[in-house]
Amino acid sequence: MTIAKPRDCDVLLTNACVLTMDVNHTIVSPGAVAVVGHTIVAVGPQAEIAQQFRARSTIDARGGIVHPGYVDAHLHVNAQTCRGFFRGDASKGAGSGPKYADWKAALTPEDERAAAALACVEMLRHGVTTFMEPGSAFEPDAVAAATTAVGVRCSLADPYLWDETELMRAIPGLASDSLFARVPPERDRCLKALGGQLFRNRDKDGILHGHVALYGEGTASDELLRAAKALADRSGVVLNSHIGYDIDLALAMERHWQKSRFVYLADLGILGPNTTFVHMNLIREDEVQPILSTGTSMVWCPLAYMSRGTPLRQRTRLPEMKQRGGNVALGTDSARQCSAGDSGFLALHLAAEAGYSTVSEDVLDMLTLGGARAVGLADLLGSIEAGKRADIVVRRPDVAEMGPGVDPAHQLVSVGHGATADTVLVNGRIVLEAGEPTQADFDVILTDARTSVQRMLRRLDMPQPGLWPRVA
Ligand SMILES: [Zn+2]
Repeated sequence: MTIAKPRDCDVLLTNACVLTMDVNHTIVSPGAVAVVGHTIVAVGPQAEIAQQFRARSTIDARGGIVHPGYVDAHLHVNAQTCRGFFRGDASKGAGSGPKYADWKAALTPEDERAAAALACVEMLRHGVTTFMEPGSAFEPDAVAAATTAVGVRCSLADPYLWDETELMRAIPGLASDSLFARVPPERDRCLKALGGQLFRNRDKDGILHGHVALYGEGTASDELLRAAKALADRSGVVLNSHIGYDIDLALAMERHWQKSRFVYLADLGILGPNTTFVHMNLIREDEVQPILSTGTSMVWCPLAYMSRGTPLRQRTRLPEMKQRGGNVALGTDSARQCSAGDSGFLALHLAAEAGYSTVSEDVLDMLTLGGARAVGLADLLGSIEAGKRADIVVRRPDVAEMGPGVDPAHQLVSVGHGATADTVLVNGRIVLEAGEPTQADFDVILTDARTSVQRMLRRLDMPQPGLWPRVA
């Protein structure tokens, strides 16, 4: 018997409890993962893989959980710095402060860059390696610069494509003169802008991607919807759009279209395996089949679902859609009062509260494979398997939230879901080490975010937020 000569690899991850998310959802422990360039080349039992590879660098996971990087399928990344500006549900438009729409319209490219960089560090620490920006960044280049600098993968779209505003009156906080002045709801502008971010897909090896997005929620004409779907089909990318954040708006859309919304959209030819709808807090019985039979992806944003009293009015059907074979991903939406890693934890508990048998393993599926498909990157992401990109998270084994750790999948989602990432690889590069970003200076990122917020307060003529008196 001859023993094969070991192959070279760039990174060998050893002594790991690997949640592979492969077709059998195999957990390999102790396991190892070999990486060459941006690609995973092998995963398996430690003893086997260690024999097969000679590594340039080795990461000892110390028995910690290793999982595919999470995908946040809906994050308004430029809004990360609005924390503290708004209490409760900013989109209601109530309260003494600015409207959320006015706050957004006041963002400069520098503010967007600062917010995105802050969000990226937070994401990495919570095990999120990819996010989908849903066409709400005014300057996608500013966001791209920040995500590239920190090393997080993202998919970008053109800002605010909308050409009808009548239904937006149901959510007054999300519409304002200043926002409409900055991104006019005009069909010509939108039709010209469509596809402006798809050039990012020319680099097949990079961490920047492009998709097609419409703002949605009844703000797109049939013509714009058809044009966007046709472009997504031609370009092999996802068409992404909000629908069903607010129940009153969903009812207004039904009255406007005189049909259930997803039936109307199915008739228009908008549903499909490359269509990803966000929120979907209302799904009628006659909409279930069109959604499931077309393979349309659904992004559940648990905190947004909670934020308007929606659970008291409408039981979510997204855990049911997942159980019936639909593709469900998770999203943060605006991280106004939550962190980048909360959506899985919230989904687990909201699903249980709504009477579903959703377990941590289902939530992990949504965070990885479901997310990868919802952003149109299922070939590259979502599992730790040979041939996929090396977007890998190593969780700290030495924190109380990871103990006792006898049931790793449940432990990770239910207790260890916080900022417990120790080492993170994105596209084969180590971008987080010992919980700190390796490519960017976090002190500078934090200072930039604080400076941006003070500028915004002055620009919006706001006092320092907070209810209690401050003494210097
Ligand atoms: Zn959103």
